[in-house]
Amino acid sequence: MNIRHIFFDLDNTLWDHRKNARLTLEILFKRYKVEELHQITFEDFHTAYDIVNEDLWAKIRDEEIDKEYLQKHRFYDTFLKFNIDDFELSQKFEHHFLDEIIAFNEVVPGTFEILDYLKAKNYPLHIITNGFHEVTHRKIDGAKLTNYFETVTSADEVGVRKPNPKIFDYALNLANATKEESILIGDDWIADFQGAKNYGLDVIFFDVFKEKQDLKDIKRIENLIEIEDYL
Ligand SMILES: [Mg+2]
Repeated sequence: MNIRHIFFDLDNTLWDHRKNARLTLEILFKRYKVEELHQITFEDFHTAYDIVNEDLWAKIRDEEIDKEYLQKHRFYDTFLKFNIDDFELSQKFEHHFLDEIIAFNEVVPGTFEILDYLKAKNYPLHIITNGFHEVTHRKIDGAKLTNYFETVTSADEVGVRKPNPKIFDYALNLANATKEESILIGDDWIADFQGAKNYGLDVIFFDVFKEKQDLKDIKRIENLIEIEDYL
């Protein structure tokens, strides 16, 4: 294997979206007195949000809905699960959520260790993200990741999301890299793993939830530092 260019997914591969979202939601939940006014605990709210949000992101990835639909629905549908039909409240959550999440900069454990390791081995590093363009650079800057990466490809800019092959094409062109000398590392089985495979790109699956332990013939890690076994 003659890998040179390494492409990382951003959300939940390096930037800890789950943790940062939880911290942001805790603040909004308190600010709008949701527990007092609606008798919902934060844990129940957060669990419901997580399910709604993951489901909507899967639909965005599968091109069933667009970004606007997600932004209208992720909090509205979450509140509906508790029989609260309040579009205005849900939109307050949405706007403040996007604005305030970037105040949190938690990264996935092992992020800086593995990036330093790969940098020291002179691999050019890149990002391909399905996240929203308006927050991508603020996340990368806020988490002090900017200097590690040569290029950043944001799905919003390209107009398609992973696993669509066009975004891999765009990112590799931007990086001046060929498929044969490139590898992707990401946590989404469909967007990252299958997307890269179908495009003809080598891939390491970051199996955060240990869902693919049975698959012995793929490159798979459960912690970022295990990337050292492959690169
Ligand atoms: Mg991800």
